[in-house]
Amino acid sequence: MSGDTKVTSGKPSKNEGNIIKQAVTNDFKKMMKEVYDEQGKVLQIREEELIRWNSKDQIEFKKIFGMDGNAVIDKNGHTAKEIMLDGVKRIKAIHKGLDITDFINHTDDKGMIYAANVNASKDSNYTINIGPRFLKQSVTGKDSRVSTLCHEMSHFIKHEPFKLDSTQGGMNTNDDNPKHDYDHQYPERVYVNYATELVNKHSKDVFNNAYNIERYFEITP
Ligand SMILES: [Zn+2]
Repeated sequence: MSGDTKVTSGKPSKNEGNIIKQAVTNDFKKMMKEVYDEQGKVLQIREEELIRWNSKDQIEFKKIFGMDGNAVIDKNGHTAKEIMLDGVKRIKAIHKGLDITDFINHTDDKGMIYAANVNASKDSNYTINIGPRFLKQSVTGKDSRVSTLCHEMSHFIKHEPFKLDSTQGGMNTNDDNPKHDYDHQYPERVYVNYATELVNKHSKDVFNNAYNIERYFEITP
């Protein structure tokens, strides 16, 4: 006697399976709707602060990025603050264009550890893959669902020629680490430590690194 008969024993009928699957899908949509709404609030707050730009806003900016927001950081004379305001507007435009069905449920991917990922080369019809680790994150705050979505949206390619206020495309960010690879399976800690290193070095590369960009969106509305 083999154990083969076990495969079919206790297996739910097709109908039962569909009911379960539907419930899971509805929970996923409900979760994503909440995250989507909170992300909208966080983006709005950051945009308003970058426009207001009082001393408190400037101190917080410098603490997160390690760079003075008033420092000129590109060859066209744009300041760090202007680059981030442009980035927030871009992420806002991507966020606004998304529907709940553009978040793809991969939360039951076996053996995977990622929170989310995207095809960063896309410049339209954006979709975002939501992975198993997303379920373990809080909605807002440090290493949250909202900061993760902002991280992912910052990856999308930036339309060229670059001009501020274009709200075309993402921020063209990378997942930088000392090895300069882009493997999402690489232990998260390496990326996080490298992001901290960039802040401590006061490197302008923070504005090209998604692990630094996401830190600006770790607030709770
Ligand atoms: Zn990334």
